[in-house]
Amino acid sequence: MSRLASRRILVVGSLNADTSLVLARTLLLGETLAAESVHKGLGGKGANQAAAAAKSGGRVAMIGAVGADEPGRALLAHLRALGVDIEGVLVSPDHLTGEAAILSFPGGENSIVVHAGANHALTPDVLRTMAAAFDAADLLVVQCEIEADVVEEAIAMAVARGVPVLLDPAPAAAVRRSWLHDVAFLTPNLTELAALTGLSIDGRDAVADAARSLLRDGVKCVLAKRGAEGVLVVTPDAVQSISAPSVAAIDTTGAGDMFAGAFAAAWTEKRDLLAAVAFANAAAALSTQERGAARSFPDRAAVLRLST
Ligand code: ATP
Repeated sequence: MSRLASRRILVVGSLNADTSLVLARTLLLGETLAAESVHKGLGGKGANQAAAAAKSGGRVAMIGAVGADEPGRALLAHLRALGVDIEGVLVSPDHLTGEAAILSFPGGENSIVVHAGANHALTPDVLRTMAAAFDAADLLVVQCEIEADVVEEAIAMAVARGVPVLLDPAPAAAVRRSWLHDVAFLTPNLTELAALTGLSIDGRDAVADAARSLLRDGVKCVLAKRGAEGVLVVTPDAVQSISAPSVAAIDTTGAGDMFAGAFAAAWTEKRDLLAAVAFANAAAALSTQERGAARSFPDRAAVLRLST
C-alpha cells in the first residue's frame, strides 16, 4: 500500500491472538455450549490500532511484545502484510503470546477473558532501548492494556521529543491522572469518560462538561466517542459534534480502535482536527458493518468513498 506521507505514527501497545466465539445465548456457570461460529485473528488494542492506522494509509511503526510461538508469528505476519514496521515488536522466548477469548452473545453483548502473556515482556527498560523509534515519530498512539509503567515511560519519551500523544484510555481504571497533562488527544468512549471523571454522561451537554473537566487536567483535546452519534470534539476553544455516517451496524467490536488508528493517519497527514475526526468516524462506522475487530477494518479508499 502506498503511504500518504513520510509522517510517522508510533503505536506502543498490546498484541493478542483473538478467538471470538459466537453463541446463541449467555452461558451458565459450569455449562458447555456449542458455538454458532468461531473467528480467529489479530487483536489487542495496540495491534488493532496499528492495523487501522496502516489501512488508513498511515506510515506506522509498532512497539510491543509477542511470544516465540505460532500465534505470535501470525500476528507479526498480519501486521507486516499491512506495511507496519514491526522491528520494535519484541519476540519473547519466555512468554506465550497474549490471548483473548471473546464470547459474543445475541444483542451485541460480549464477555472477554484476556491472558496478557508476552505483553508483560515489554518493560520500561526495554522501551528505553527503542529511543530511535520515538526520535522518528510524529505522533505516539498508546492505550492501557500494557503495564502502566510502560505507558508512563512511552508518554515521557514522546514528550521529551515534542511528539504529541494520543492516549486511548482503555481500560479507564489503568489511567494515571498525572498522564493527562501530557496528552494531546484523549479518546474515551462514554463509559470511560464517566469512569475518568465520576460525572454523568447523559446527553451532549453532560458529555461536554465531563470532557471539559479533563481539559482542566491538562488534556489538549478530548474526542468523546458516542457510538452511532459520532464524536464530540472538546477543546478549550470549542465543543463540536461530528456525526457518524448512518450505517446498518452488525458488530461494533473494534470500532474504537478503528477510530483511533484512522484519526492518527488522517491527523498526521494534514493536521486538520475536524477533517481527521470526520474521516475516523466514517472509518469506524464502516468497521461496524462486519463482525470482528481487525478483519472488519476498511481501507482508505472505502472510507474516502463514504466520507466524500
Ligand atoms: P468499541 O466497540 O470498539 O469498544 P468504543 O466503545 O471505544 O468502541 P464507540 O463509541 O462504541 O467506541 O464507537 C467508536 C466510533 O465508532 C464512534 O465514535 C463512531 O464513529 C463509530 N460507531 C460506533 N457505533 C456506530 C454505529 N452504530 N453507527 C455508526 N458509527 C458507529
